[in-house]
Amino acid sequence: MPNSAFKLVFKGRFHGVDDPEWGWYDPVMEFYPNMDMQVRSAAFAWLREQMDLLGDDVLPRALLSRGFVFQGHRVPLISPKGIFKPRILPDIPLSITTAPRGPYDDSFGPDGLLAYRYRGSDPRHRDNAGLRLAMRRGTPLVYFHGVVPGKYLAVWPVFIVGDDPHGLTFTVAVDDAQTVRDGLARGTGAADDASARRVYITSQVRQRLHQRGFRERVMQAYRRQCAMCRLKHAELLDAAHIIGDTEAGGDPVVPNGLSLCKIHHAAFDQNILGVDPDYRILVREDILHEKDGPMLRHGLQELQGSRLIVPRRADLRPDRDRLARRFEKFLKAG
Ligand SMILES: [Zn+2]
Repeated sequence: MPNSAFKLVFKGRFHGVDDPEWGWYDPVMEFYPNMDMQVRSAAFAWLREQMDLLGDDVLPRALLSRGFVFQGHRVPLISPKGIFKPRILPDIPLSITTAPRGPYDDSFGPDGLLAYRYRGSDPRHRDNAGLRLAMRRGTPLVYFHGVVPGKYLAVWPVFIVGDDPHGLTFTVAVDDAQTVRDGLARGTGAADDASARRVYITSQVRQRLHQRGFRERVMQAYRRQCAMCRLKHAELLDAAHIIGDTEAGGDPVVPNGLSLCKIHHAAFDQNILGVDPDYRILVREDILHEKDGPMLRHGLQELQGSRLIVPRRADLRPDRDRLARRFEKFLKAG
């Protein structure tokens, strides 16, 4: 894109006329009708790249505030305000953000979609007006979900699909990037017959957000090491449930979690290893008497009678009642 055209876009005013199909006519934007979409696509691609580079789908805030460079202009992706529009975009925000919350207090409504609070209480505030415009035009945004302070899971594309000025809330749905791209390529727009698909995809994302939040909170509490063997490779660690998440009491809270390496997680789930309510690790009888190589000896048998490594904060340590319930299963398995 020639630089002069680019400047013209930003000096000009926008007199866009809404078009139910993708895009809108604009005498200035004619020079570069898809500039807004190009910035968004670049942002989506950049996010994907960062996740691949870090090998993690949770991104640090500093990285997101720095953002990337588009045509010589820096494009940050996030701001403390919640609704964020980088300067390069004329009117529609690029992202919405929610701060990390507890495991129960999530932002999803009974319809399964994300309920996003207005900025302040004035429906006409610039940020709120920007999201309303995104809804009318079917513009894709990024949703940053705070999992723990300073760390965000990025979800895109998301669309504003509802606006409730009395409840001061927008309704946000997640969609599938490929399906949306295909829809645009066909010229049918992003909003074609999408609501059932979006409800389904949003519910999947909701589950992922919960699991990811649980993992991150457990990893922090256990300082990213296995509670049984101290292994410190995050990529080999899981956040294990003491009581399974489909059972009563199986909540995604740190006292129902253990940071375990892959082998100890599997051994715990299979009742090869048990933990009693006093944080003592026990090895199933038959395994204790087995003879095999060093993995069996050092990895499992030598844990017999050793103590679980627990978080410093007492309120984050494994809940003794839950451990007792789980330990009964271990005893039965032996
Ligand atoms: Zn381990």
